[in-house]
This record gives sequence, structure tokens and C-alpha cells, in this order.
Amino acid sequence: MSILVINAGSSSLKFSAFTASEEDACATGLIDWGGGAGRAGCRVSVGADERVSDVDAEDHLAATRVAVETLSERGALRLNDEIAVGHRVVHGGTALRDSTRIDERVTRRIAELSSVAPLHNPPALRAIEAARRLLPDAPHVAVFDTAFYRDLPRHRYVYPLPYAWYEEWGIRRFGFHGISHEYCAARAAEMLARAPSGLNVITCHLGAGCSATATAGGVAVATSMGFTPLAGPMMGTRSGTVDPGILLHAQRAHGLDVEDLDRALNRESGLLGVSGVSSDYRAVEAAANAGSDRARLALDMYAEGVRGAIGSLATTLDRLDALAFTAGIGENSAALRASVCDGLGTLGIGIDDARNRETQPDADIATADSRARVLLIRAREDLMIAREVRSVLAGTSS
Ligand code: ADP
Repeated sequence: MSILVINAGSSSLKFSAFTASEEDACATGLIDWGGGAGRAGCRVSVGADERVSDVDAEDHLAATRVAVETLSERGALRLNDEIAVGHRVVHGGTALRDSTRIDERVTRRIAELSSVAPLHNPPALRAIEAARRLLPDAPHVAVFDTAFYRDLPRHRYVYPLPYAWYEEWGIRRFGFHGISHEYCAARAAEMLARAPSGLNVITCHLGAGCSATATAGGVAVATSMGFTPLAGPMMGTRSGTVDPGILLHAQRAHGLDVEDLDRALNRESGLLGVSGVSSDYRAVEAAANAGSDRARLALDMYAEGVRGAIGSLATTLDRLDALAFTAGIGENSAALRASVCDGLGTLGIGIDDARNRETQPDADIATADSRARVLLIRAREDLMIAREVRSVLAGTSS
């Protein structure tokens, strides 16, 4: 049996193919719109053979078709064999926690949550729709980014709002990127040769979205994202947490309506909003290095946001054993890591400059006398999803 993993992001579709027993993907791919719709860039690696092309794929529905066709043409997915499909779904709410087989009830619930995860749940639904059409006999399993936060203590998920909003409207912190944070915390324990049950770690997932999570003994105890994936440090296009009074003022004094606010907060803020250059960290770094004052400001604010999240999460742990960076920015920007860690001296965290600049994930970049280890970990949501698919099909899902 093969497992196809589909991860529909806001402006990309990532996919991997696994054989049932192997932990490593035999093929991985990315279809990326780079922020625009229409023709997309497509990169597919089967083993060491990487091929890059432009493809006609308007949206996640079309991209899923391209993914399945490409993997099949390249021999990484045999359509006549048994296949199971794992889908990353960002928001499962309170009803959908454990990884589950997808049926109409599950897709309906994911659709209902689209209003609170507008960048993520709609693309996931399009990908699920396409994959179910293309592979109608395969079991399709949804794996939720919110699941890792099932044990958050109540005082960290109830908001200081009218209590009826929680009781009657279900407004509470959910937390996101859980698949990535759970993998990272487990991988950190493995890298440090420690039992997961004995490790306290803060993991920073810094990609297009950005979040940090404190995990104690394998259980998420606090996280920066909230009711929606808009909270926490600033991100590529998302504002992160801002003074809610600004939103009241923008409506009263400047006539913005809910759609205006949604667009501004989700799509026109963060690195893009501040720099005026791009939502892509690399492009903002390049502009800052070329002298753009606003790009430099955006980078400073970004690092400040991540540092602040780490500082705040550190207060939820009785000891910090490791700090881990993962995802596109976390894995690749040595400057960002240096900037974040420079301000963490009070936590006793120190990174080795040369190791920070030269090491590739997975690696430890802390100085010998750092009070906590500092780890670079390659994001492997696909691996976690494949594992979940196997356990759902084996009936051993948690
Ligand atoms: P997603 O959340 O969509 O999965 P990624 O994890 O791929 O996103 O991260 C995308 C971000 O990573 C972009 O802002 C991109 O600029 C940044 N990034 C990728 N490579 C580098 C690099 N070498 N240096 C700095 N930033 C990078």
C-alpha cells in the first residue's frame, strides 16, 4: 500500500508519497502560486531526481490532479495498487480532534470552520474534493493541526471576554501548526537522546504562518495561535496579535467593514504590510540588505514577535531544555535565528555563530554552555500525517 499525503497551504500544495512501511517519503512535490493565481511552479522529486516545471493549475483542485498525475507518471504512486490518502486540515474545531476517515459529515464540519480559517480550510476542502474524485476507492484521512492542543489547561484556552462567548459561541483558543510542533518536539527528544516524557521544549514554526508552542513531556501546554491562525507573532501576510481597539477604531473612524478588516489582517499585514515589498522573508531580507528602511523594520518586528512568543511561553514551563526552529524561515534564515536568540540571554540561551550560519537541519546550534539546546529541525508534517494515516487504518489512532 502507498500513502499519498496532501498538504494544502494558503498559496501552495505540498504532497508526498510514502510506501506503507517506510518512514521516508519516496517522492515529494510542491505546487506554488507564489501569491498569484493561474500558472504555478511545480517541483517534484522522486528519489534524487528533481524536476521543475510550470503547470496549468488554477487552484488547489487542479493542483491536486496535477500532483496525482505527476506522481503516477513518475512511478511514485501506482494507481492500480492500494492507496490511502492523508490530508492536512488546519482547523478541526472542538468536534474534530482525532485523525479521522473523511466522510460527508467531516467535510461539512471542515466547511463550517472555513470562516475562522479562511486561508486554510477552503483549500484543504478543494484538495479533498479532487483527491476523492481521483481516488474514489482509497480511504481518505483528515489530520488536524488543532489536535495537538487537546490538553491545553482551561485558563490558557478561555479568553478574557464575556464568558457566554465561550459557552454559547465556542470562542476559545484552539492552537494551530500542531502537526509540525508535535513532530518537532518528538524529534528534539530523539536528537537529544532524551525520553519525550522528560523534555520541555519550545518549538517555533516559522513559515508563511508563524507560531510557537511550549511542550512539556510530549504534551502541548501553551501556544501562540488562538481561536484562529491569525494570533501570535506577525507572519507573511497576517498581522498576528494586535491591540483589538485598533479594529474598533478602524471601523468607527475609517468606515472599514468586516471584509475590509479580514483582508487587511489576513492578507495585507505582516511582513508584506510593513515592508511594502513582499510576504516572502527572503525578498524582505534582500530588500533590507539593499537599504530599504521599511524592510529592515519588518525584519526587526518579526524577530521581536518570535522572541516575545518564546519569552511568554517560557513562563509556562518549569525548565526549558530546548528551543527548536523549523519551517522555511526557521530552518533557513541564520540572521533571523541570531536576531531572536540575541535577545534571549535572560533565558540563558546562546547560539554558536559559526554553527548557526553553516549547519543544515537537523542540528544543534547552541553554544556548549547554553542553558537550553537550540535545534534546527526540518519540518516534516508529511511524515506525521503518514503515521496518522497508518494508525487510523490500523484502528490505533489516539
Ligand atoms: P509554508 O508555511 O507555506 O509551508 P514554508 O515553510 O515553505 O511556508 O516557509 C516559507 C517562508 O520561508 C517564506 O517566507 C520564505 O521566504 C522563507 N524561506 C525559505 N527559504 C529561505 C531562506 N533560504 N532564507 C530565508 N527565508 C527563507
